[in-house]
Amino acid sequence: MSFENLNLHPLILKAIIDSGYTSPTPVQEQAIPELLAGHDIMASAQTGTGKTAAFMLPALHRLATPSAVHSRGPRVLVLTPTRELALQVSEAAAKYGKHLSRVRVVSILGGMPYPLQNKLLSQPVDILVATPGRLIDHIQRGRIDFSRLEMLVLDEADRMLDMGFIDDVERIASATPATRQTLLFSATLDSAINNVAARLLKSPKRIQIATQQAKLDNIEQRLHYVDDISHKNRLLDHLLRDMALKQAIVFTATKRDADTLADNLSAQGHEAAALHGDMNQRDRTRTLTKLRGGGLRVLVATDVAARGIDVAGITHVINFDLPKFAEDYVHRIGRTGRAGASGIAVSFASGKDGINLKKIERFTGQRITSHEVPGLEPRFKPRVGAGGASRSTPSVAHKRSRTWSNDSPRHTSSANSANGNWDDSRSRSPGAGRGDTWGNTRGGARGNSGGNTRSNSFGNSGAASPYSRTK
Ligand code: AMP
Repeated sequence: MSFENLNLHPLILKAIIDSGYTSPTPVQEQAIPELLAGHDIMASAQTGTGKTAAFMLPALHRLATPSAVHSRGPRVLVLTPTRELALQVSEAAAKYGKHLSRVRVVSILGGMPYPLQNKLLSQPVDILVATPGRLIDHIQRGRIDFSRLEMLVLDEADRMLDMGFIDDVERIASATPATRQTLLFSATLDSAINNVAARLLKSPKRIQIATQQAKLDNIEQRLHYVDDISHKNRLLDHLLRDMALKQAIVFTATKRDADTLADNLSAQGHEAAALHGDMNQRDRTRTLTKLRGGGLRVLVATDVAARGIDVAGITHVINFDLPKFAEDYVHRIGRTGRAGASGIAVSFASGKDGINLKKIERFTGQRITSHEVPGLEPRFKPRVGAGGASRSTPSVAHKRSRTWSNDSPRHTSSANSANGNWDDSRSRSPGAGRGDTWGNTRGGARGNSGGNTRSNSFGNSGAASPYSRTK
């Protein structure tokens, strides 16, 4: 399916093309037609699946037609559990609505001064993105007119439930017109979420996007903190000398690094070869045939080259460089643990990889536990909680005990609270930046954030799309 088939407004389609998207993601493909037809939906889809566009594109499509109701109040309200998610949503609204004229996006988040928010709310608003606690305050003070509200989006409803916001959400919903279209997005659609949906949605269409979790259950995920490239090389050499490693794919960030690393490994006596998009088809096929036949123990590859490799003998995947996109992490580690076998996925991370790690953990819903190899311990020690507790990996003959925890990082685990990126909308963070920096620079749609703006929010803001890239 292509975006053209979805019948979205041409100016929205133009923004999609500008974003470099070539085709809708599964949640977009399923949700957009239902939403354009006016149905309520409840969808199980996590961050990274393209869910923001799945609701924002139909929301903007509505806004392309003027409202019949005369009011300054929002026509679309998006409720999110965290400030960071709210800012991501506001940014997406500005990005996809940039060719539409006069789409005004306002964020109302906890932890910012009321006077600025009051000012933002005194002007016309099209899309209001808010965390529930602060929005309730404004509703109680009579500052929001919901008379022309057409669409209510509950983003990450399960987290709002976990964080105790659901009463606020229901109170907000009851302040909006019963004629509204309601959308609920959640990582899982369990009974608690079903109860919320039963109260707030009308005959919703259910959309289930397969979670990544199930696919990873037979893969043990490990993390090694690394100081520098030489530390990485020594650790890699150590891991590759493990007799339990039958075959491995080592991922690098660039094609050139793949070549260099494969050459270095060969020079160290490993049976290694590179695979990447700059190689001609004949060489690629030859390398893959060798891998399949067991004549190659270590394949050094880039993301795109390794997509779809299905070789049962791959016992280990090693992320020499972490992927930029959480989705790529799942693709990468899925190269091991094929056909019901178990596998080990090892990731190297340095101090600057913290945000990426969080994105990955959030996407998979799993914690990656850090390990240390005696004699190769990192000098750099992450803060407690980042990547979980440290464990020692016995040299060479390691045990295949299950070391990672199933604690989902979306709950208030130490991994989250250590960084502060997962604050709920009610927390006050005096050090956080403030201002209205979002969206204003992006063409026609103006985004005004009344909340804390952090440069290191976990969103993919501004990043290239994980679905349309070629390497
Ligand atoms: P989300 O799940 O909404 O957080 O989106 C994850 C990432 O996917 C964001 O960086 C989006 O810009 C990107 N994205 C959303 N839809 C598409 C698409 N159809 N094609 C490529 N990238 C997309």
